[in-house]
Amino acid sequence: MTISVLDAMHLDGRTVRVRLQGSQISDVQTVGGPARGVILPLPVDPHVHLDKAHTITRCPPADPGLFGAIAAMAHDKTHWTAQDLHHRMSLALTDAWANGVRAMRSHIDWGSVDAPLAWNVLGEVAQDWAGRITLQRAALCDLDLLGDADHGPAIAAQVARSGGVLGAFVNCHADLDVKLSRIFALAVLHGLLLDFHVDEGLDPDARGLDSIVALTARHGLAGRVLCGHACSLSIRPQDEVRRVLDAAANARVALTVLPTTNAYLQDNLPGRSPRLRGLAPMQEAKSAGVQVLLGADNVRDPFFPYGSYDPLDIHRQAVFAAHLEPAAWVHAITSSPAQALGLTPGLVAKGQSADFIVIEAADWPDVISRPRASRHVFRAGQNWSTPS
Ligand SMILES: [Zn+2]
Repeated sequence: MTISVLDAMHLDGRTVRVRLQGSQISDVQTVGGPARGVILPLPVDPHVHLDKAHTITRCPPADPGLFGAIAAMAHDKTHWTAQDLHHRMSLALTDAWANGVRAMRSHIDWGSVDAPLAWNVLGEVAQDWAGRITLQRAALCDLDLLGDADHGPAIAAQVARSGGVLGAFVNCHADLDVKLSRIFALAVLHGLLLDFHVDEGLDPDARGLDSIVALTARHGLAGRVLCGHACSLSIRPQDEVRRVLDAAANARVALTVLPTTNAYLQDNLPGRSPRLRGLAPMQEAKSAGVQVLLGADNVRDPFFPYGSYDPLDIHRQAVFAAHLEPAAWVHAITSSPAQALGLTPGLVAKGQSADFIVIEAADWPDVISRPRASRHVFRAGQNWSTPS
């Protein structure tokens, strides 16, 4: 369906009329009065795991928490084939497409020196989806593997050849600083972006984030390093948290918060309600000047058995979990991840491609209140939504 005018749209705190000409936005005019729809740029998800997607029914974890999920996944992984990976990744992207996602960065487990099958399959899937959803691949190695003086260089060279992002799981490892220093040296050598899973637990002694921030500043990699999770910040002393967040802001290390997976995995003990939610202090991070992003992380797998690659659902979960003002955090699923991933900002503005979501709601509190409000996904001026 082709539409040329969208009247009474809520955009960044004002009511506007959006005119379309073909695939472009030809005008955005403030009109005042109440809004009938909320408009936002197409979202970007900076942190997912497409290799693990849609495995939950065949490998439910025997034990709760992060390490129970890792064990369940390790068993399932032995059955992964190119066909299985391609099928599950395509299911995930079909959901993301319907939800309006325009770009995603997927971590891929990388467990030995040679690139895993899933890395290559996602490369093929990215070609399938080219022009629809932009896909980035990030290697997810254990710090002991990528930080190994013999193995790390071979992995980094393969990641560089395939245009990927280098990354590691970092959590209270022995010789953490030495291994991280080697990874940073490899990133500088190959000009690679870095993306870490860091301090994903509730150990008050976890200091991976502190080390990554210091190394980012030392190597001058401002704007090139992402840190996901940082759950331990939720239980560390406030003065320490303030110091590391200030340092992260100065070094321009961005923080990705994954509210659904953290709430599901942290403080997860059988027969007992959780007391600790493992959510990084995102309000304090933003106040300190850290760029904060929101991601889905795991979907329909042992790490999180629910979800559908819907950034608006993640935004809604974060609003509740972290007591956020909804409108003030829309950027965490749109412009902030776009910038962190090196993409165009994707604005709803004159001269931009007509790529946006319209939700039939009056404002952001209304969007949060009525998750079933109709949503229309426009790509290049065409409404791709299924009529309800
Ligand atoms: Zn993750």
